[in-house]
Amino acid sequence: MRYLITGGAGFIGSHLAEALLARGDEVFILDDLSTGSVENVRHLKTNARFHYFYDSISNKHLLAELVDESEVVFHLAAAVGVRLIVESPVRTLETNVYGTQQVLDAASKKKKLVFTASTSEVYGKSEKVPFHEDADLVLGPTTKGRWSYAASKALDEFLTLSYWKEKNQPVIIARFFNTVGPRQTGRYGMVLPNFVRQAIEGSPITVYGSGQQSRCFCDVRDTIEAIVRLLGTDRSVGEVVNVGTNEEISIDALACLVKERAGSSSPITHVPYDQAYEPGFEDMLRRVPSLEKLSRLTGFRPSTPLTETIDRVIDHFHARLAPATRSIDGIATTAAASD
Ligand code: UDP
Repeated sequence: MRYLITGGAGFIGSHLAEALLARGDEVFILDDLSTGSVENVRHLKTNARFHYFYDSISNKHLLAELVDESEVVFHLAAAVGVRLIVESPVRTLETNVYGTQQVLDAASKKKKLVFTASTSEVYGKSEKVPFHEDADLVLGPTTKGRWSYAASKALDEFLTLSYWKEKNQPVIIARFFNTVGPRQTGRYGMVLPNFVRQAIEGSPITVYGSGQQSRCFCDVRDTIEAIVRLLGTDRSVGEVVNVGTNEEISIDALACLVKERAGSSSPITHVPYDQAYEPGFEDMLRRVPSLEKLSRLTGFRPSTPLTETIDRVIDHFHARLAPATRSIDGIATTAAASD
């Protein structure tokens, strides 16, 4: 099979490309490196079935060509990460809404299946856990920047489903819940890479808010397995499906676990939300997926223990730091600090 992955040099995209290549498929990736990194796919570049295009999804001609080449389009290109959303709301909205529209438009001309990546953010501050795919979305006011991300991804979902209903365009939507693993950058606010970097550097591990808020962290390998399985069944077409685990952990407990696994002496500190993000920032206390639908459609439930994922992330950070540390200390510090 031939696949196009928009955002293929990103965290999830690069793992997906790797998995598809490993099973013998051909992969085209389109990425403008706005949040992705060439480092994520460098090891794939020698594979003759891997084709890398450094460009934006707003390049209509290239997008059309790549859609033509592919049988399925994974649309993962998006502005993600709470920090990025709070700091660059215009970019978030434009990338997410305009980008998805471009991809759907190009794919619908050839009726190529589009797999749209969405997020658990769309459930907003709903307290009815576990979140079922058909539950109401509870978003805060438009004056609070954080909700623009949820709104933009909800609009992506509406657009995707409209192409399915009105134009018979085959689509699948996955709502990812806190995916974690090697190559995820902490630059845009994601908690695990930030904690791991802080633990390894021996700097304070910064828990935002009370630390009592909880999340369910899903290993990226499980996420990829879920994606591949969803694609493998016709029953997924036209559906919105949660992808994640339902093992919940508080952010305080996560900080302790990372500290312990890294053998770190970092202190754990608490930072108020308005200092960490912006005044009036609203967080959600719990975020737990219902996995019934994923399980019913694919027979799969992610199950990698969080400790295993944390260890892999720690190893990844060590591996990235090791050669640089040996040669030029200053560069090593810069590389780590930017992650
Ligand atoms: N968080 C934290 N310290 C950090 C980064 C994030 O305590 O350095 C918190 C954040 O406020 C949230 C949780 O960790 O409550 C998960 O944050 P992330 O941005 O990874 O995911 P999301 O908020 O989208 O669930």
